[in-house]
Amino acid sequence: MQPLRTLELLLKSERLANRSHLQYYSRAMSSTKTIRLGKSGLQVTRIGFGGIPIQRLNQQQSIRVLQRALEGGLNWIDTAYDYGNSEDRVGKAIKKYSRSDVLVFTKGTGRDPKTLREQIELSLLRLQTEYIDLYQFHLVSDREKWQTMQDNGTFDLLREYRDKGKIRHIGASAHTREAALAVIEHPEIEVLQYPFNFIVEEEGLELIGAARKRDIGFIAMKPFGGGALEDASACIRFLLSVPDIVTDPGFEHIEEVDEVLYLWKEGAPLSTDNHRTIERLRKSLGTRFCRRCGYCSPCPHGVQIITLMTMENLMQRFPVDRLSEEWIAGAGTSVENCIECGECEEKCPYKLPIIEEIRRGADTLARALQPIN
Ligand code: SF4
Ligand code: SF4
Repeated sequence: MQPLRTLELLLKSERLANRSHLQYYSRAMSSTKTIRLGKSGLQVTRIGFGGIPIQRLNQQQSIRVLQRALEGGLNWIDTAYDYGNSEDRVGKAIKKYSRSDVLVFTKGTGRDPKTLREQIELSLLRLQTEYIDLYQFHLVSDREKWQTMQDNGTFDLLREYRDKGKIRHIGASAHTREAALAVIEHPEIEVLQYPFNFIVEEEGLELIGAARKRDIGFIAMKPFGGGALEDASACIRFLLSVPDIVTDPGFEHIEEVDEVLYLWKEGAPLSTDNHRTIERLRKSLGTRFCRRCGYCSPCPHGVQIITLMTMENLMQRFPVDRLSEEWIAGAGTSVENCIECGECEEKCPYKLPIIEEIRRGADTLARALQPIN
C-alpha cells in the first residue's frame, strides 16, 4: 500500500457521494460487513488480511499488525506457500486465538501431486494448524496448464486432503481472464481470487458476474493496484460498493490497518473526493497500467512481458533480497531478447507502449539489484 491519507484527513474531507455514478452498485449500499463467500458457505468479513507485505517486517512487527487486524474484527487471512516467511508469521499470530475464530486461506504453486503435497504439508506446519479453511491453486496461468493439473492427479490430491478434513474448501487464483474463466468452469472450485480495483473495473466486473452465476466466491486481490493506487479511501469504498465480493489488502503498518478498519466499519459510499481521485488515477494510469490479462503473451522471443510490465509494483511488494530470485531477475534479463517486433503491442487490448515499458521495468530492476550483486 502506498502512503495513506491519515484518518483525521479522511474524516475532515468527508462529503457525500454523487450517487448518479453509483447506479450499478446501488444494491451494495447496505454496508454489509460480512458476506457468504459463494458456495464455500464461509461467512467472511468483506475485508481480509493479505499476507504479502508482512514479509518485509520483522517477526514482532508482523505479528502486531496481523493481530491488530483480527482484533479490529477482520476474520480471515490470505497467505501462500510462496510468500517467504508469511505463513510462518500467520501461524505465530493466530496461535493466541481460538482456531475457529480465524479463517486461514493459503495457496500452492505445485503443478504435480508430489510437489503440491510437499507444499501443503509445509503450509500446515508453518501455519501451526490442523486444517486450512480455503486452499487455492496459486496463479493458474492458462487453460492448458489447468487441464494438465486435472489430468495428472494434482486436483485429486486436493480432493484427498478435503476428504481428510485438512482442507475445507478449494479455490484458485489467476491473473488472466482466460485462466480465470477456465478455473470457474470447474464444479468443485468454490472461490476465485483475481486482481480487481477501479482501474480494471470493466474486465473485473465481467468475471465477477461469471463467478456469481456459478455461486463462486470472489476475492479481489490487488485492491491498491499492487501499490499503484495511493488512496485507501477510494480503493476500499469502491470495492465495498461492488456486491458479493471481498478483498484482501496487504498491510505493513498499524495505521494502515486502522484506516481500512475504519472504512470497512463506516461502510460509506464513495465521496465526491473519491470520485475525483478515481477519475484522476484512471486518466493518469489508464494509459500504462498493465491489467495482467495476458493477451500479449507469450512473447515468441521469450521476453517475460507481464513481469516486466508490473516490475515496479513487484518491487514494492517483495523484499529487496527476493529480487535476485530467478523468476524476477530472469524476467529482467529476458528484455535483452526483445527484437521490437511489436507483436505484443498489437495484441494488447489497452494499446500499452509495451516495448518502452518493459525496458523501463528492466532498468528499474537492474538499478535495485546493483547493491545486491
Ligand atoms: S501488456 Fe497489455 S496485453 Fe499484456 S498483460 Fe498487460 S494489459 Fe494485458
Ligand atoms: S516486441 Fe519484444 S516483447 Fe514484444 S513480442 Fe516482440 S520481441 Fe516480444
